[in-house]
Amino acid sequence: MFDYLIVGAGFAGSVLAERLASQLNKKVLIIDKRPHIAGNAFDHYNESGILVHKYGPHIFHTNSREVFEYLSQFTAWRPYEHRVLASVDGQLVPMPINLDTINKLYGLSLTSFEVDDFFKSVAEEVSPVRTSEDVVVSKVGRELYEKFFRNYTRKQWGMDPSELDKSVTSRVPVRTNRDDRYFTDTFQAMPLHGFTSMFEKLLAHPNIKIMLNTDYHDILDMIPFREMIYTGPVDEYFDFRYGKLPYRSLEFKHETLDKPVHLPVAVVNYPNEHAYTRITEFKYLTGQEHTKTSVVYEYPQAEGDPYYPVPRPENAALYNQYKKLADATPGVHFVGRLATYKYYNMDQVVAQALTLFKKLSVQEEPALLDGAKLKSNGFKQVDVGVNLGKGGYGNAI
Ligand SMILES: Cc1cc2nc3c(=O)[nH]c(=O)nc-3n(C[C@H](O)[C@H](O)[C@H](O)COP(=O)(O)OP(=O)(O)OC[C@H]3O[C@@H](n4cnc5c(N)ncnc54)[C@H](O)[C@@H]3O)c2cc1C
Repeated sequence: MFDYLIVGAGFAGSVLAERLASQLNKKVLIIDKRPHIAGNAFDHYNESGILVHKYGPHIFHTNSREVFEYLSQFTAWRPYEHRVLASVDGQLVPMPINLDTINKLYGLSLTSFEVDDFFKSVAEEVSPVRTSEDVVVSKVGRELYEKFFRNYTRKQWGMDPSELDKSVTSRVPVRTNRDDRYFTDTFQAMPLHGFTSMFEKLLAHPNIKIMLNTDYHDILDMIPFREMIYTGPVDEYFDFRYGKLPYRSLEFKHETLDKPVHLPVAVVNYPNEHAYTRITEFKYLTGQEHTKTSVVYEYPQAEGDPYYPVPRPENAALYNQYKKLADATPGVHFVGRLATYKYYNMDQVVAQALTLFKKLSVQEEPALLDGAKLKSNGFKQVDVGVNLGKGGYGNAI
């Protein structure tokens, strides 16, 4: 008899498995229908011996010390700050848009003050700001919107930015300085030996059993368990009772090139040319030295594995119907990106899992409510310091 059956061995499932096993001595079975652990963060050495991310580039960044310290128990880190260039008008310019982007694009030599005036002069007044188009046009005007955002968003989402919720572009900063880092979080680092190696350590506790290549439907009647933690798609759990929740998918084309370096930075975005949105060169992310290099091209698709929840008000309303069902299902806890229909970054999913663990630990051991501490060798979860109100589309823009 298992205390918990955990469906999905990505961040949400694996963090909960680790906490329940190591802190509450629970017996856990974690299963995944894929042939590997680590969910979408899975990385592996390809046929040339280069460490690649199977499901597209995953860059770890967080403002939460708690999340960072929690994961640090299972990995050493390699400091890494992500940089992206966009191919626009035949040039490669920094993305997000900053002072150098404008100067290079228009052959100017503006100062920070002058570029601020420039943005003000081109920005359009939009009220209220509702869509992704509104957000960008109200910050940088129509021309930069057309050059950098419109076509990229259409490729990425198969929809015009005017049809998409403002959340898709609202987190993309526009900078008047020369900071060309993609993220500005306090903690920016990659697991030194990769994500999968970190997951192996997360799941190494003797109370945790792992079953791969297994859809949970196939074992439900065979394996006795007390409670379930479900990290798969919430609509699938309820047999699509209210219809399918829309997702955007991607096809990844991996390639190994017979040269040590291919791109000037880790990622080049192609807003206006090609069917793919961007190319990523993994060695920048991993720091690996190798005579060859591996890259991945991302082709957005309507069909395929569910990757990005499509942020439109009608989809949020549909999800809310499923959420009501989920909230009314005793003994099953819905957590993670697919089960809560939000595009959470990795740190947000870890935070969400740690928050659920806190709730479960009080349920399992009410004495914890009286201030008793979780085991001293572990992480005492108090406040994970990550805003879970909104998903972030940071790396998808
Ligand atoms: C292209 C791309 C790039 C990204 N880049 C970044 C980034 O740079 N930085 C960042 O912080 N985040 C990034 N993310 C987000 C990151 O992948 C997620 O935050 C994280 O993987 C979510 O973890 P999860 O456990 O909720 O879901 P997942 O990793 O999707 O894990 C869920 C698991 O459940 C399994 N499952 C589903 N249904 C069943 C079933 N019926 N039976 C058994 N198993 C099942 C799935 O196979 C899957 O392995 C990116 C996502 C994508 C798609």
